[in-house]
Amino acid sequence: MAIARPIRVLGLAAICLWVFFLYQVFGSAKPPPPSKIMDKEPLLEYTGEPEGAPLWRAEKGYGPGAEGTNRINATLLSLVRNEEVEGMVQAMRDLERTWNSKFNYPWTFFNDVPFTEEFKTRTQAETSAECKYELIPKEHWETPSWIDEELFQESAKILKEQDIQYASMKSYHQMCRWNSGLFYKHPALENTQYYWRVEPKVHFFCDVDYDVFRYMQDNNKTYGFTINLFDAPQSIPTLWPETVKFLAQHPEYLHDQNAMPWLVDSEKRPEHNMKANGYSTCHFWSNFEIADMSFWRSQAYEDYFNHLDRAGGFFYERWGDAPVHSIALALFEDSSKIHWFRDIGYQHIPYFNCPNSPKCKGCVTGRFTDGESWLMKEDCRSNWFKYVGMD
Ligand code: GDP
Ligand code: MN
Repeated sequence: MAIARPIRVLGLAAICLWVFFLYQVFGSAKPPPPSKIMDKEPLLEYTGEPEGAPLWRAEKGYGPGAEGTNRINATLLSLVRNEEVEGMVQAMRDLERTWNSKFNYPWTFFNDVPFTEEFKTRTQAETSAECKYELIPKEHWETPSWIDEELFQESAKILKEQDIQYASMKSYHQMCRWNSGLFYKHPALENTQYYWRVEPKVHFFCDVDYDVFRYMQDNNKTYGFTINLFDAPQSIPTLWPETVKFLAQHPEYLHDQNAMPWLVDSEKRPEHNMKANGYSTCHFWSNFEIADMSFWRSQAYEDYFNHLDRAGGFFYERWGDAPVHSIALALFEDSSKIHWFRDIGYQHIPYFNCPNSPKCKGCVTGRFTDGESWLMKEDCRSNWFKYVGMD
């Protein structure tokens, strides 16, 4: 029959096309598509992020990560009290809006007492990501056995006379110690590598459209910060002397590419350096940190923390986790692995990091503080740029 053959050929072609289509949709071994936001995003538009980042994004794309998702091994992390639920919800709302709703990283909340049902319900309602609620083991939170209660009370009195905030609040000292050397040892974080620390009541102002954890991983960064501040030297008079002692015992831990000149600067604020016995007091403000816990889990940091812990300054003085983290990073890590997230608009009262970018709303570009004018001099970011650079 004259028309049967073309019809058969056409039919065969249609079947082939159909099979090819089915294979493309269901059968190929392609990784899952990148998140929708990545598809839509013009890759080279201005984002305020560091040079090179958009290109890096275009080149590498977002392949599947842990457990077959686009995410890498990371969590948002908050130590918080039940009473702070309101502030936590507000901070979550900001971070979910500007960043996490695009990536859905899990939240892990820590507390020294069990979280209330109200806390759990209200925080989970702010995100479609998984929320985990973790109790801190007693042995991580309790004041160590070698701390003498009477001496603690005496020291607190002296610190208070010097206007050191929270000096006599034991839990504040416990919090600083836990944030310094214990949080990353919690069993719930055993298999987690990166974290972004978030405190209640902080604000985020800028849309951030790339996966900051992936940025850290792909660029081999250890630590990311937004703000550099001077510390109250009266809260850490023996922190630097103890550090010098430790370094004498362990010169092998000092990294070739360390940031020692940043630590010991005495030009910008000579009196601070004097009162802190050789340390400029300039530190990464740790209520914001995006970091790789491998560093805290290293032998160098473990030994350093134990040395400090034994020295007693978390209780007899008021050593914060910020200067402790900062000193360790500046001594034991390659300074090029420390990254300023200039593109993340951030506020923890009373300081800001507010970039110049159309992606930011709700903060004043370049403003450092909305508090009294003397607070301006607490900014020491320029020292980081002077001694280490901008990346
Ligand atoms: P500041 O930023 O130095 O003024 O100190 P904060 O009061 O903000 O405390 C730092 C972080 O630790 C915040 O996320 C607090 O919610 C948390 N925090 C402080 N003390 C405690 C405590 O005793 N228990 C718990 N669960 N969280 C605490
Ligand atoms: Mn705070």
